[in-house]
Amino acid sequence: MMDLDKVSLWGSVLTELQLALSGANFQTWFRGKTAILNIENGVVEVGCASAYNKIWIEERYQGTIKEILDRVTGINTALTFSVSSQVQTQEKTRKKPKEALSVPLFEEDPGPSLQKSFKVAAVSQHYSFSNFIVGQSNQLAYAVGKAVADYPAGRYNPLLVYGGVGVGKTHLLQAIGQSFLIRNPDAKALYISSETFTNDMVEAIQKKQTIIFREKYRNLDLLLVDDVQFIAGRESTQEQFFHTFNELHAKSKQIVLSCDRDPSELSNLEERLKNRFVGGMVAKIDPPDLELREAILLAKAKRLGLSIEFPLIKLLAVQLGSSIRELEGALLRVAAVARLTNTKIDRETIKTAIGLQKQGKKTAAQVLERVASYFSLPVAVLKGTSRSREHVFPRQVAMYLLRKASNKSFYEIARRFNDKDHTTVIYSVNKVENMVENDTEIARIVEELKSGIFNN
Ligand code: ADP
Ligand code: MG
Repeated sequence: MMDLDKVSLWGSVLTELQLALSGANFQTWFRGKTAILNIENGVVEVGCASAYNKIWIEERYQGTIKEILDRVTGINTALTFSVSSQVQTQEKTRKKPKEALSVPLFEEDPGPSLQKSFKVAAVSQHYSFSNFIVGQSNQLAYAVGKAVADYPAGRYNPLLVYGGVGVGKTHLLQAIGQSFLIRNPDAKALYISSETFTNDMVEAIQKKQTIIFREKYRNLDLLLVDDVQFIAGRESTQEQFFHTFNELHAKSKQIVLSCDRDPSELSNLEERLKNRFVGGMVAKIDPPDLELREAILLAKAKRLGLSIEFPLIKLLAVQLGSSIRELEGALLRVAAVARLTNTKIDRETIKTAIGLQKQGKKTAAQVLERVASYFSLPVAVLKGTSRSREHVFPRQVAMYLLRKASNKSFYEIARRFNDKDHTTVIYSVNKVENMVENDTEIARIVEELKSGIFNN
């Protein structure tokens, strides 16, 4: 043991860790940021580049590291962790001087030709697999997403990922597109939202260019359609989409779709499309759990160049909800507050920033719009008098949100709904309150709406 070279021992630990962790986690916490400083009597001292790194690694990876070390050395090791400027210097000299991101998107510039294929495909450089942080809630979607990028039109065709607002669906679709193009620079890929698809189609019909439209979509090797829930209820779009889908599928081309809910819950989606959508692989992305929220906050804080101590990261992660977009927003606010007050980031800064975030209240009209689009209903129907179940529930939820989230009076709310009786509003608010308490699915929907309303 004493004779073991520290560098090569750590090298083998890193190799195993790299296999066990996602690319982003590995790069964020380990690569170039850790080393063995000392080995004595079975005690291995692991040096970490920063206090951040140290706490993070100690809390999350201690067990895994020990397991690997025990296996490699054949003895029962004990671990200690320390912050060492030595590691940091090594890291700094290795990195390119101007690099601000902790997680490089590209080891090198993608180059003009790849950049061009990204552009044609509407794929951004910024959403990659390597900066997609993996936790329990998204690991299935991540794994099948990678498989699709590596082996398109293989086992998972189509791939449909679904989940609520801000859980990373768009990021994942983009990463699939990016990784696919890096591997197949000459292939044709296209990322598109279902709304753009609809607009394209309408325009093509108006300009009598349907042949061009068909060519554009049906000659692709990879088609990524984001937010397919928006085509529900649109007949001619569904028709076109159905044919596009079939043709690509028949030619063994990969299709990837995202949806904001389980497609079986889309009441206005044609049965035949529903069947197609779920005919391959379906992966759900759940809201991030606390651990993933912490990991994301840490990684993004680093990326923003913010120095926030770990307990404060925890405070943010505990206080903030289920949307990753919300976490990003909170960090930006923290940065802004710190800059404005010219202070170091502390408990107060975080509290102020969270307060600002929660205050970012929306007008009643915005709340109604949001709810309407969530349930794929026109706002007029939401405000209307229809008694059908499909309309009543969203209407009650909208009333509930107006009451709870923006603190409007019952009378005020009633006025928003074509002057209904305010007792109807009271009844609705109580009803939804009850449902939220007793039905986790409804609680989830309401949570999702709330986070969507207050963080966009
Ligand atoms: P959705 O499409 O599901 O509403 P997005 O993909 O737009 O959500 O994600 C919202 C934001 O959160 C984006 O900036 C995205 O980069 C970021 N994000 C989502 N998931 C992750 C993740 N696992 N790791 C890092 N960033 C993430
Ligand atoms: Mg999205």
